[in-house]
Parts: sequence; C-alpha cells; structure tokens
Amino acid sequence: MESNQNETKQDEINQDEINREKKSREIIVVGAGMAGLLIAYYLKRQGKDVLVLEANEVASGQTGRTTAKITSQHALKYSELIRTIGEGKARLYAKANEEAISEYERLIREEGIECQFRRVSAYLYTLQNTERLKQEAKAASLLGIDAFFTTETELPFDVAGAVCFRNQAQFSPMDFVRHIASKLEIREHTKVIRIRGNRVITKGEELFAEKIILATHYPIRNVPGFYFLREHQERSCVLELSDCYKTSGGYRLEAMCYGIDSDGFSFRQAGENLLLGGGSYRTGENKCGGAYDKLTQAAKKYFPNAKEVSRWSAQDCMPHDGIPFIGRFSVFTPNLYVATGFQKWGMTTSMIAAMILKDMICGVGNPYEKLFSPQRFLVRAATENFLKDVGISVKGLCKGLFCAKTCRCSHMGCELVWNPDEQSYDCPCHGSRYDADGKLLDNPSVHNLQRKK
Ligand SMILES: Cc1cc2nc3c(=O)[nH]c(=O)nc-3n(C[C@H](O)[C@H](O)[C@H](O)COP(=O)(O)OP(=O)(O)OC[C@H]3O[C@@H](n4cnc5c(N)ncnc54)[C@H](O)[C@@H]3O)c2cc1C
Repeated sequence: MESNQNETKQDEINQDEINREKKSREIIVVGAGMAGLLIAYYLKRQGKDVLVLEANEVASGQTGRTTAKITSQHALKYSELIRTIGEGKARLYAKANEEAISEYERLIREEGIECQFRRVSAYLYTLQNTERLKQEAKAASLLGIDAFFTTETELPFDVAGAVCFRNQAQFSPMDFVRHIASKLEIREHTKVIRIRGNRVITKGEELFAEKIILATHYPIRNVPGFYFLREHQERSCVLELSDCYKTSGGYRLEAMCYGIDSDGFSFRQAGENLLLGGGSYRTGENKCGGAYDKLTQAAKKYFPNAKEVSRWSAQDCMPHDGIPFIGRFSVFTPNLYVATGFQKWGMTTSMIAAMILKDMICGVGNPYEKLFSPQRFLVRAATENFLKDVGISVKGLCKGLFCAKTCRCSHMGCELVWNPDEQSYDCPCHGSRYDADGKLLDNPSVHNLQRKK
C-alpha cells in the first residue's frame, strides 16, 4: 500500500517535471514592439530558443504609431550630452545610433525586406534664435556625425536656422515588423501579469525561462529597478495629410524635419502623404484637450488644400538623464533584462537594445553596455527631472488617496485625469491609460480599472 502511494507521488513529481520542461524556454521576451522583436530576432540568430509573449498583437503598442525616422538626431541632444556626461560618453551615444542606422540597412538588404527604406537627411529647425542650433551642429560634428548648420530647408516656410544630419533614414515600420515577426515564435493575446524569479505568469499559465527580457515599453514590474521613479511618459499627436503638394507646386519632402521651438512640428513624407507631428504633452496633462488643434491649424497654414487622411497619438518613456535604460533590470535580478526610456527615438534605440542584450546574453563584450546600463547614476544629468517627477508622483498619489477608487490608477493608485482628445483616463505619474470603460490601453499597469461607465 505504502509503495503504491510512493509510486503515485513519484508519478506526480515526474509529471510536474515534464509539464515544467514543456513550459520552459531558454529566453522569454515580453512585448512584441520594435524593441522586443529585434531583441528576439538577433538572439534567435545566435541559436537561442526564444519565445515572445505579446498582450495584444504584434506592434499594437507605440511601434504601430511611430513616424519611423531612423536617426541619431534626437532633437537638441549632443550639446546637452557633452555638458552633462562629457565628450567621451556623448561620442559613444552618437556612434551607437549611427551604427544602428547602418545595421537596419544591412539587415533589410540581407533579408530582402521591402519596407521603403531610404537614406535621407534629417533637419532640426527653429523660427527663433539660432544659437542653440549652431552649438548643436558644432557638437554633433565634434562627435563624428556628418552635420552642418544651414538656413535652407525643404520646408514650405522660412526658418531662422537648421542643423542637417546627412545620411539618416526612414522606412515603413509595419512592413519591416511583419517580416521580422514572421521569423519568430510569438504568442499574441498573452498578457504577462507578473514576473517572479524565472517564472513568467500570464493570465492562464506559468512559464519558465533562464533569461527574461522586459520589452513592454514601460516596465510592468516596479521593484527592484524602480523605473517608476526614473522615467515618465509623454504623448504626441500625428496627422496624415494628402494633397499637400497642390498648394506649393509639386511639394514633396525628401528630408525629415523636426522643430525645436515649443510650438515646432515634425514632418516626414510617407508615400504620397505627409506626416505632421506635434502637440506634445506629459501623459495625464491634457485636461483641457486641444492637442490636435495645433496640428490642424499648422496644416491649414502650411498646406491650405491638404486633406486629413487620419490622425493618431502615441506616447514614449522619458528617462531623467536623457539616456535609455538597456541591460540588467536590477543588480538583484541577474536573469531579468529591460529595454525602456526611448524618449521618442525608439527606432535606433530598439536596434541598440538588440545589439547590447544579444551580446550580454551571449557573454560577448559590447562597447555601449555601460553607457546605457540601467545601473548607472548620472546625478548631474538626472537630478532636476527626477525631483520634478517625484513631485508629480507624490501629488498624484496623494490625490489618489482622496478620490473614488474607480478613478485611481491600478498601477500605483495615482488619480487619473480625463483626456478629452483621446477619450481616455490618463495617469500623470507614470502614464498608464484606460478607455472610458476602464479597459487598459497603455502600461505600466497590467490591470483594467474596476469600473463600468
Ligand atoms: C508620436 C510619436 C512618434 C514617434 N516617431 C518616432 C520616430 O520617428 N523615430 C523614432 O526612432 N522613434 C519614434 N517614436 C518612438 C518609437 O515609436 C517608440 O520608442 C518605439 O516604438 C517603442 O517601441 P517598444 O517596442 O519599446 O514599445 P511598443 O511598441 O509599445 O511595444 C511594447 C509591446 O509590449 C506589449 N506589452 C505591454 N505590456 C505587456 C504585458 N504585460 N504582457 C505582454 N505584452 C505586453 C504591448 O502590447 C506592446 O506591443 C515616436 C513616438 C511617438 C509617441
């Protein structure tokens, strides 16, 4: 009798082991946006067994709404980086991004991906004082970027000055993403709720992996790592316009342009249409609405006959010190990795993340690992933004204590703010968003609100 019981117990243990083996993978990547897909793709090419888990569908997050400029021109960046982190590190940042552009080109050629990849110039422009742009041109050139100051652009209005970066690129991100996704094992509609050690817990099951990579845009895990104290989210709008050319004699923008003034805009050609971007605000701070109005007014002014084909908005994570977080999630979680904080430049940064994490996991040195390491502490660069963000979070949390539970973010309990433009409830602290019925739209939260409108 006792021996029978022992055998049954042993069978159960064996079955558990078999089940666990079936659910065990070498690497699990959480999130199938540009970052998760590229990281998974390059790891798979190294012979790794990789599974990608995606809460919704491939590229259904910010990647599906990007304007997809592949560029090392990240607004006014290099003069500031030299000031805050020094010339050596700033040069590394520039080099990593320039190499990322080349790697896209190489990969697209090698895989024969039809995604309208084109090398084009990128311009930062101003209608005001040109001093900052002159400095930026100097700083970028010093760091090895092919950059120069000019007053000539292809924009349909005069600018006071501009900085041109030559040999940047643009592409159709969805054509690219579809191809890369076709090479991978991806489970869509599989939301990860929690990560504990090497366990990845979804709504329906528990999986195991030797290495786990969080590519969920904003990390869904709070501690350790404390990313909720280290970055916030910023939202911007885009209008897709047709028939711009009728007004200005065959107008077609070859280059990509980005305004550095507070009311500046982003321009890029996408096939026959033009993408006009702008109207940025910190997520949770568009109480009065009107973000798209700035774009419709600009469209009317610059392209009076243009027709609006579509409009959308998206958001990105803004790290305090102006450098994305790519590497180990924390010193206490050696097998958990993260890629976040892309500051609206996630095309090149996703490629940098793929290169760094591939090398780290394969045990190969990477020249950029230290610069992007989440374990860095760049006090000089981060203090001011850190204090501002902490202030906003404390305010949101305090307000959350006194508001109805139905208006509290399910991430950390901050008070949500209604965004009339998007018909969504937005969290000003960390950027989670919900639709009018409380259904989760954007993380870091992983839960819907407990409410029905
Ligand atoms: C308006 C706008 C324009 C932009 N234009 C440019 C540009 O021109 N050039 C540029 O370089 N960058 C641009 N960016 C930034 C760029 O689009 C983003 O940085 C990039 O797309 C982020 O990619 P990602 O993979 O990190 O995030 P995402 O694309 O959001 O992918 C994250 C994925 O994780 C999934 N996920 C989330 N939580 C879970 C969970 N719990 N379980 C499973 N899956 C989960 C999501 O569903 C999503 O698919 C722009 C950003 C904005 C806001």
